[in-house]
Amino acid sequence: MDFRIPPEIERLRIRIAEFVADRIIPCESDPAAFDGHGNIAEDRLSALRTEARAEGLWALQVPQEDGGGGLSRMAMAVCYEEMNRSIFGPVVFNSAAPDDGNMMVLARLGTPAQKARWLAPIVAGEVRSAFAMTEPDPGGGSDPSMIRTFAERRGDRYVIRGRKWFITGAEGAAHFIVVARTSDDARRGLTAFLFHRDQPGWEILRRIPIMGPEEHGGHCELAFDGLEVPAANVLSEVGHGLKVTQTRLGVARLTHCMRWLGLSKRCVEIAAEYTARREGFGIRLADRESVQMMLGDLAMQIEVGRLLVMKAAWALDRGSFARKEISMAKIHVANLLHKAADVGIQLNGARGYSTDTPLEWIYRYARQARLVDGADEVHRMVLNRHLAEEGRGFWAWAVRDDD
Ligand SMILES: Cc1cc2nc3c(=O)[nH]c(=O)nc-3n(C[C@H](O)[C@H](O)[C@H](O)COP(=O)(O)OP(=O)(O)OC[C@H]3O[C@@H](n4cnc5c(N)ncnc54)[C@H](O)[C@@H]3O)c2cc1C
Repeated sequence: MDFRIPPEIERLRIRIAEFVADRIIPCESDPAAFDGHGNIAEDRLSALRTEARAEGLWALQVPQEDGGGGLSRMAMAVCYEEMNRSIFGPVVFNSAAPDDGNMMVLARLGTPAQKARWLAPIVAGEVRSAFAMTEPDPGGGSDPSMIRTFAERRGDRYVIRGRKWFITGAEGAAHFIVVARTSDDARRGLTAFLFHRDQPGWEILRRIPIMGPEEHGGHCELAFDGLEVPAANVLSEVGHGLKVTQTRLGVARLTHCMRWLGLSKRCVEIAAEYTARREGFGIRLADRESVQMMLGDLAMQIEVGRLLVMKAAWALDRGSFARKEISMAKIHVANLLHKAADVGIQLNGARGYSTDTPLEWIYRYARQARLVDGADEVHRMVLNRHLAEEGRGFWAWAVRDDD
C-alpha cells in the first residue's frame, strides 16, 4: 500500500486541525462548557456543530449520496485522528460513537425508504441514535449467540420482549437499532430492527453510573415489554442480525481506534510540553533518559497503532471485512490509549492527576476501550481462530494483480 495521502485529504486534515485548535480545545478548560456527565454541554455543542457544518466539516464519513462527505476508510483514519486531538472533537463533526457506526450501517444496509426515514435525520444532526445488542447476565454479551431478547412474529409485525444494557446514548436517542432473536438457528437466529423512541412497549430502566465521562445520553439499561415493530423496519433481512452486527461493529471498532490514536497523541503532546519546561534536581525532565524512553516508546506504539489502523482501513476500502486486521488494531490501540494516559499523568506529576489537563478525563474514559466492541480476550480468541485456520498464511501479503 501507498502511505502517501491525497493532497485534498491533507487540506481537509489541516482544516480539521485548525477548527479543533481554535474552536474546540478552548472549551476543555472552561468548566461551563461541560454537562453534568463530563461531556460537552448541549448548548456549546450545538453552536460548534453549526459552525462545523457551515465549514463543510460534517458527517465526512457518510457516503455523498446519503448526505455526507464520502471519505474512504483510509481518509477517515487521517481525519478522525485529528478530530480527537480534543476530547470533544468527534461529536462536533458528527463522527462520534454511536451515531457514527449507526450511520455507516444504515448507509450500507438500509433500503432507500429506511435511509430516508432513519438515516437522513441522523446525518442532518436532527436526532441521535443508539445500537442495542448487549444484555445483562444471563443474556448475550461477548457471545451474541446468548441473546435472549425475543421478537415474535405476529402477522406483519414483530413483538419484542427482553432486556438490554450499556446502550450508549439511549437517553438522548430517537432512532434505535435493536438486535433480537427470531429463531433458534445458530447462524440465522438473530434479526436487527429499527424503532423510534416514541413507540410504546419499551422503557429506560436506568442510566447506568460509570467510572468515566459519558457520551450524550449515557449508557442505559432498557426493558422491552411488547414493543411492536412492523416487518418493514427489519434492517437487512430476518435472520441476518449477526451480519448487521458484524457490518456495524467492524467499521465502528476501527473508527474507535482512529479516534483513540488522536487522544493518545494528545497525551504525548501534554507530557512533552510539561517535561520540556519542568526542572528538577538541576535539569529539565525532558533531558532525563528515563523520560525520553517513556515518550520515545509511546511515539513508537502510536505509530504501530497507526500502521495497524491504516492497514485495516486499506483492506476495508478494498472490500474485505478485515476481521483480523481490525481485531489487532482494536487490541493494540485500546491498550495504547490506556498506557498513553497513564504515562501522561505520571510525567505531569500531581498536575496530571488534576483536572487542569484532559489527562485524567482520558484516563477514566480509556478503561472502557478494552471492553467496548469486544473485550481484548475475545479479539485474541478471534485472532487465534484465524491462525488455526490459516497457519503461516496468517501473515501472507496481498499480491497486486500487475500481470
Ligand atoms: C462504556 C460502554 C459502552 C457500551 N456501549 C454499548 C452499546 O452502545 N451497545 C451495546 O450493545 N453494547 C454496548 N456495550 C457493551 C459491550 O459491547 C460489552 O460490554 C462487551 O461486548 C463485553 O460483553 P459483556 O460486558 O457482557 O462481557 P462478558 O461477556 O460478560 O465477558 C466478561 C469478561 O470475560 C472475558 N471473556 C469473555 N469472553 C472471553 C473469551 N472468549 N475468552 C477469554 N475471556 C473472555 C473478558 O475479559 C470480558 O471482559 C458497552 C460497554 C461499555 C463498557
